[in-house]
Amino acid sequence: MEKIEQGKSYDAGELAGLCGQPEDVRVFEGEKAKVITQDEGNGVVKVLEILRQTPRCPNCFEIIDTIYTSRTVQLKFKGGQWVEEQADRYFNSQCPSCQEEFNDEDLDNLGVPQEIR
Ligand SMILES: [Zn+2]
Repeated sequence: MEKIEQGKSYDAGELAGLCGQPEDVRVFEGEKAKVITQDEGNGVVKVLEILRQTPRCPNCFEIIDTIYTSRTVQLKFKGGQWVEEQADRYFNSQCPSCQEEFNDEDLDNLGVPQEIR
């Protein structure tokens, strides 16, 4: 098996073979996202997998790095020190840009882990 060399040009099919992936699969990678796609012809590609994507509000489409939440915490004296303890499991979340509330599906799409909701 030939070693892949940086700066060298390859036939796409040959390179796919050297990488061990199907020939019509391409990776798009940029600042905002990294996705694996399959070539469907006529310049159209289908997204097979999203490896990374900058979170965007599903309502206003702004890039967000903050989600407003409201939940109640209490301060408890435990083991000789004050600690923060969540007082309820009620959780709501909101876009900092448009103030719209996110539902569970929105949070799934934004990639918010279940454990911190
Ligand atoms: Zn928004």
